[in-house]
Amino acid sequence: MKNKNIQKNNHHSPTLFDEKAFIKNLQTNFVGKNIKFYQSTDSTNIQAKNHFNLPDGTLFLADTQTMGKGRLGRSWESGSGCGLWFSILLKPDIALFQTSALTLIAGIAVCRVLCRLGFDAKIKWPNDIVLECKKVCGILTEASAENNKINYIVCGIGINVNNNNFDDELSKKATSLFLESNSVTDRYSLLSNILSEFELCYIDFLNHGFSFFKKEYTDFCITLNHIVSVIQNNQSVKAKACDISDTGGLIVDMNGKLTEVSSGEVSVRGIYGYI
Ligand code: ADP
Repeated sequence: MKNKNIQKNNHHSPTLFDEKAFIKNLQTNFVGKNIKFYQSTDSTNIQAKNHFNLPDGTLFLADTQTMGKGRLGRSWESGSGCGLWFSILLKPDIALFQTSALTLIAGIAVCRVLCRLGFDAKIKWPNDIVLECKKVCGILTEASAENNKINYIVCGIGINVNNNNFDDELSKKATSLFLESNSVTDRYSLLSNILSEFELCYIDFLNHGFSFFKKEYTDFCITLNHIVSVIQNNQSVKAKACDISDTGGLIVDMNGKLTEVSSGEVSVRGIYGYI
């Protein structure tokens, strides 16, 4: 379905964001009902952390980020006019260990919406949403806590929507909705749908925990049954991805021994490529 005549710019959608109209049409109770919009900012996760006193559910949205963040200090390319780069500030009454599952919950919300739009969205554990084995969305959850009590959580989501090209290195593993469908998606109606789905999932997560989503996550997850490299502290160990635990960890078989790895600590790479 790829467009052979792609242009070199990514400015498919207007950058104008009508905040009042967006909030008026938003079908949520609290997520995104308060918004800080930036034409350009360093990173929406950084801004959310700087403004942690704002209400639960505040949305930080940027047209472009100059220092978009991935996990473990990696960078996230977030050009203007083509993607959805946003963070949700949350103040749940949960234990610190539960926060990593929020990344997985956000992934389910994004996948549900993309699947409804006709995309075959899958999850590479823990935090990448992929289409045709390429990354279309990354999720970075950061928490502030004291004595195991959460002060706040920032759930950052970056989605490549109308990007029509990536630089050489990134193009091997990144894709966008436009590149997969050859059609332009309205960024802000997509955002509105994702916020609604996220709120539904978040409330179910607070009420029932991750185990409520385990089957659905497992069905979305393409990492399972693959041989992967578990990369930790610059060391890489080969293992077979076997299952997802009740708290959202990845259970791997390392030389016959089942071990659970948690999402904050490791990167997982397929031994034959990105998946
Ligand atoms: P991983 O889960 O692959 O270990 P992260 O979740 O930390 O990585 O995401 C950061 C990585 O994602 C970067 O190192 C880069 O390779 C890739 N990346 C950066 N920007 C984008 C983008 N817009 N779309 C897809 N992938 C990206």
